Amino acid sequence: MNLILMGLPGAGKGTQAEKIVEKYQIPHISTGDMFRSAIKEGTDLGKKAKSFMDQGALVPDEVTIGIVRERLSKADCEKGFLLDGFPRTIAQAEALENLLSELNAPLQYVIHVDVPQEKLVDRLTGRRICPECGATYHVIFNPPKVEGKCDHDGATLIQREDDRAETVSKRLEVNIEQTQPLLDFYQDKGYLVTVDGDRDIDVVFEAIDKKLQTLS
Ligand code: AMP
Repeated sequence: MNLILMGLPGAGKGTQAEKIVEKYQIPHISTGDMFRSAIKEGTDLGKKAKSFMDQGALVPDEVTIGIVRERLSKADCEKGFLLDGFPRTIAQAEALENLLSELNAPLQYVIHVDVPQEKLVDRLTGRRICPECGATYHVIFNPPKVEGKCDHDGATLIQREDDRAETVSKRLEVNIEQTQPLLDFYQDKGYLVTVDGDRDIDVVFEAIDKKLQTLS
């Protein structure tokens, strides 16, 4: 199952990604997570990515395409993958087409989790993540069982630097401008599946899952 998951920041993409990969046992390839772990480990990639990420800007295409190429070439992607946060530009989408045709792994669906823009600011500023396992929560809409602690490993939850109120509007602006051309690109190619994301997490997942079941 070869999938891309799209949606503006706060649309619930990460939460749905966790559910999809758990059910279908495919690797979750999030470029944002890859950059964050590179920064944490202090690698060259992390050093390159950090200044862009801190400003809410995109990391240059050649860097991003390079890490995705490396990741998709690994053996665990042979049974499929879920790309999350990539592609973000038409150049990345075109590079991905070439790469997938080299790997003989045709894309099946581009799932777009659609949430009205005005709802996203609240969702983003209330988001908390686990620094250990990457699980995402929301202080109101999806709280952990114990306040401030990850359900999976008990680690203390944190707020991402770019989820702070000061950075959120900039991130949304940048994303809205960049997402539309990609939605059009995949719509034209017939891959796009739009799911109403302004509903309960499980209801959204059911809608996605119904579509995915047509593939298996
Ligand atoms: P995310 O976790 O997907 O919101 O990504 C966090 C940050 O990582 C973004 O604001 C970008 O700085 C960087 N990033 C993630 N994915 C990409 C991508 N496909 N292209 C360029 N930059 C990216």
